[in-house]
Amino acid sequence: MNQLKKDDPAVYELTLKEGQRIENTIDLVASETHMSQSTLETMGSVLNHKTIEGYPGKRYHAGCEYVDEIETLAIERMKALFEADHANVQPHTGSSANFAVYFSSLQVGDKVLAMNLAHGGHLTHGHFASATSKCFNFEHYNVDLKTELIDYEALAEHAKRFRPKMLVAGASSYARLIDYEKMSQIAQSVGAYLFVDMAHIAGLVAAKLIPSPVAYADFISFTTFKTMAGGRGGVILCKEQYASAVDKAVFPGTQGTSSVSNIATKATIAKIATESRFIDIQQRTLDNAKLLADLLSNKGYRIVGGGTDTHQVVVDVTSKDLSGAQAEQTLEAIGIITNRNYIPKDTSTKASGLRLGTGPIAIRGMKESEVRIIVHLIDEALHNLDNDSRLNQLNKEVLALCKQFPVYS
Ligand SMILES: *Cc1c(COP(=O)(O)O)cnc(C)c1O
Repeated sequence: MNQLKKDDPAVYELTLKEGQRIENTIDLVASETHMSQSTLETMGSVLNHKTIEGYPGKRYHAGCEYVDEIETLAIERMKALFEADHANVQPHTGSSANFAVYFSSLQVGDKVLAMNLAHGGHLTHGHFASATSKCFNFEHYNVDLKTELIDYEALAEHAKRFRPKMLVAGASSYARLIDYEKMSQIAQSVGAYLFVDMAHIAGLVAAKLIPSPVAYADFISFTTFKTMAGGRGGVILCKEQYASAVDKAVFPGTQGTSSVSNIATKATIAKIATESRFIDIQQRTLDNAKLLADLLSNKGYRIVGGGTDTHQVVVDVTSKDLSGAQAEQTLEAIGIITNRNYIPKDTSTKASGLRLGTGPIAIRGMKESEVRIIVHLIDEALHNLDNDSRLNQLNKEVLALCKQFPVYS
């Protein structure tokens, strides 16, 4: 970054510091990943230069011969990886992908049934603060408050009552599997489209370690920067009959030019995702999450939904008389990065949950013995909230662990 150092020492310094922060902390944020070196190279390459509008072979600017090949590679590889009829690789991120899915097949004001945010859903699933709720008429389904799992019978009844034009399945904070076959039966029973938002779990699906929604869903969206471990961006998959509507809804419907460098990283991750190194990381991600949930549960932390089938572990920290924010801040003080999250029982604006994810530590090569250490560190910290010297000691232990598992060497 020699030129950046000259042009903008302030941003240069902050970038270096961010690099050190990444090396010296343990990342348990479920929606993050450690970007591969090749992703960083592509993101910072000449591919940032080109303005593209339209699709390969049908562009609105000349000079697209190579970027057309890149986008075609990304599309074909994503289709092959997920066995999908059609892929659109232009969405800037997951939210833009979701907007395009809605506008591909709904009219403003149409009814959509999606998961409640506090029960696991996403802002773009019609939360009042999201523009999605201003465009479409959302109702939300909840999990069963006892099991904290989706109650498919209640959902089917809700769908019969509400008669949505689209049913949204998929979540940002729900650690258990979703039954896509049941979801598709419910959607079909009321003549609704099924849209599966697999933003968090796409990497696990790509590795074929958890069930794929592709056979059941009309539309699928995902981000490439969560378990998928590619660059920042979004992808839409759909059945052939919706291909043209989806493409039009992305460009020109909801986006202008897309980012060729981000599209290129999508091509690369779709290639890497077929290789054993990727599948090994996804398996380690799952193994680490199961162990993390078991060990925390053994120490008296209540695990939301009773456990995990994915990379996520959602912890009810009120089981230790803490708020989500207190837990998040205390762990940050020792160098363990997490995020507080609403859980189904939350009725106020205070989050009771702490959402953990094991993607980044799996990429770093951390396995069972490191997960055991991490659980010990978490538990110690959360029992020593106000004990700065103990927290300092624990931070040293975090640093020592990080040194053994460099992100970038
Ligand atoms: C992360 C996420 C998205 C996309 O979010 P962006 O921040 O816009 O990339 C969409 N849906 C779900 C369920 C998510 O978890």
